[in-house]
This record gives sequence, C-alpha cells and structure tokens, in this order.
Amino acid sequence: MDDEVKSFSFNPYHMAVQQFELAADRLDLSENMREILRQPKRELTVHFPVRMDDGSIKTFTGYRVQHNVNRGPAKGGIRYSPEVTLDEVKALAMWMTWKCAVVGIPYGGAKGGVICNPKSMNTAELERLTRRYTTEIAIIIGPHSDIPAPDVNTNSQIMAWVMDTYSMHQGFSIPAVVTGKPLSIGGSEGRNEATATGVLFVTRRAAQRIGMPLRGARVSVQGFGNAGAIAARLFYNEGCKIVSVCDTSGGIYNEDGLDPAAIVRHKQEHGSVGTYPQAQHISSLETLEVPCDILIPAATEGALNAANAERVQAQIITEAANGPTTPEADAIFSQKGKLLIPDILANAGGVTVSYFEWVQDLQSFFWGVEEITSKLQVIMDSAFDAVAQTADTYHCDMRLAANMLAIARVAEATKVRGIYP
Ligand code: GLU
Repeated sequence: MDDEVKSFSFNPYHMAVQQFELAADRLDLSENMREILRQPKRELTVHFPVRMDDGSIKTFTGYRVQHNVNRGPAKGGIRYSPEVTLDEVKALAMWMTWKCAVVGIPYGGAKGGVICNPKSMNTAELERLTRRYTTEIAIIIGPHSDIPAPDVNTNSQIMAWVMDTYSMHQGFSIPAVVTGKPLSIGGSEGRNEATATGVLFVTRRAAQRIGMPLRGARVSVQGFGNAGAIAARLFYNEGCKIVSVCDTSGGIYNEDGLDPAAIVRHKQEHGSVGTYPQAQHISSLETLEVPCDILIPAATEGALNAANAERVQAQIITEAANGPTTPEADAIFSQKGKLLIPDILANAGGVTVSYFEWVQDLQSFFWGVEEITSKLQVIMDSAFDAVAQTADTYHCDMRLAANMLAIARVAEATKVRGIYP
C-alpha cells in the first residue's frame, strides 16, 4: 500500500470495528452487547529502557491488549515493528477473539507489540528488549490468564526468552505461559508450519467448493515471513505453480513457476527476495495483481484496498495475514464473485496448534506430528464448512459469515456469564 495513504487514512481498529458492526447488524446484536464487544477489556501501555550495545540507553514503547476473555484465557502473538500502534494492537486483539471463537478453541483474544526496528538490532539487544518487555507485561500475562505467541518479526527464540523471563520471576519453569517455543523447552511439533498448513487446508476446501483443481493452480504469495514462505513451499509440494512472491524489498514473477526452496536459499544468502535472478522483478504491490488463480496475502494490514482491489485477478484469496483486506476491497471482491477466505478462519492454524502446545505443556505429555496435523485438519475443515454453510444460509460472503459465527459465540458466552457484580 502507498505509505502516505496508509499513514494518513488507514486505521486497523476502525476497520475491525467496521467489520464487527456489519456482523452485529446481521445478528441483530443489542447495543449493550455491542458496547461490550466493540472495545478491549484491558489495554496496557509500557515504556521501558533498554541498554544498547554502544552503551546508550533507549526507551521503547510496548503494548499488551486483552480484548475479551469470556470463552477462556486471552491468547495472541507479539509483534516487533516500527509501525506498531495501540490501535493496531487493539484491532489484532479483537481479531484474535473472533479467530479463537470461529475455530472453537477455548480462548479469548489478545495481542502485544513493541515499537522497534528488530532489523537494526543485534541478538543481545533483542534479548534485553524481550526480557524487559516481558517483565513489564508480566502483571497481566500467565498460563491461565494471557498466553503470548510469535507474530510479525518474532520467533521461537524470542518466545524462549519470554518463557525464561516469566519463569525466573516465579522461581520455576512455566512453559505454558507462551506458545511457539523451541521443541527443547516444551514447544509443539508442527507449530512452526501451523499457520501455513491451515492456509493450505482451507484453500483445498475452497478450491473443492468452486471446482478448481489445486494441481497446476497459479499461486501468488505476498510476504515471505513464517506464514508466506512456508505456504509457498506447501502449495508447491501440492502441485501448484508459485508464479509470484515478494518481501518488503520487492517482488518476483515467473509465469512458468518459481521454486520456493531456491528463493529461501537466496533470501538467506542475500537478505531479500527481490533480487532473485530467474524471474521478472516487480514491486511488492504488483505481487497482488499478477495473473494467478490463488492469492495469499501474508504480510500486514490493509494491503488489499480500494486502490488495487479491482486489479486483483485471483479467484480465491486466502488471508494468511491478519486484516489484509479493507471493507471497501471486500465489497469489490464480493461483487466480482471471488471466494475470499477471511483471516480469522484462514490463518487460525497458528493459534490452533498453539492451543495444542499449551494443552501438551499443561499435561506434560507430548504428541507426535501426525496427531497434531490430523487434529488441526479436523478443526480447520469443520470450521471452513461451518462458515461456508453460514455464508450459504445468509447469502453473504465468507468474512461476514465467519464474523457472524464467531461474534455469536462470544456474545453467547458473555451473556451466559452475566454482568459482574
Ligand atoms: N500470531 C498468530 C496469529 O495472529 C498466532 C497467535 C497464537 O498462536 O497465539 O494468529
């Protein structure tokens, strides 16, 4: 997205509320219930100093927002980015509430973020930032209250530091306080690939729904982080043709297909995707508009908007990212008859295997990868079917259907628990 447009007019929280109101209208939700669900339960802002390697001290700002905990403990990732804002974290926390509800796992929604540029920090600085941020939010996180996980620019090493810091404060190891950890300290098989695996499962289902064979389908992937890079590999292994990928440095396109493993190696060696030789070089934004059958936005919010939605050629859009499509773009896709699998369903594989990780940690009994993958498939397939059925019943798109299902479940839990005191 044009950076200027984004900084002046794009607010993810306003977008999340707009999506919420559309579903609340269709559900005929009372104004009292809307007021409860429209805003987060708790917003924590922290400012904290970190010693940098050059001897200077820098003060960072971070957030942890818990949107709703009526269906279970708050759950959601932590992102590190210079673009983090409180409104972004609030939106992401709300989407986590709906995501956990739509796949039926017993969690509420949360999200965390730190305003920082992890690419300009070394490992020791990132560790100190993570440990201090964890200490600052330790007053609200915990294995039964709020369980963080990886998100944009965070990974299993950072989760290990979160787990260790929290455990040091308690005096004993508490692996269930965070998910997405390394296997050696209570992580789960399959967690690293979980988001992309879920993206593949629901896209298979969507392709069946419209009679599109996956083998030979042309796929374009915007974003080459944990979700995008692994999705490219899984779709390639499925027989799809990966025609375009990109990261923030730029995009590449080859109508004959790209080899995701070779691109991963190129990125490891040269730091970016955009310079990969056997392809036409395009901008990151053009990745969204290339001729393809399946588009996987796997970067950040607002990528598909009123300015480019008309030019999207894919028939299926599977949202591996959170919030990649604005309501204006949704309306255009709907009107053009495209099948969009919304973020809260499409990328729920990540939090679903996080749930498996948490359950395994709490019981100290671990499952094999086959068991994880087959349990994930059952959850993703049945959530997809429930959303598709709701879409058919209400003659609406999958976003509205998924939000209606999720919001109805959260509203029901909120109602049955009642108002305290
Ligand atoms: N950050 C991921 C998401 O947006 C995973 C969250 C989790 O596993 O708790 O869904």
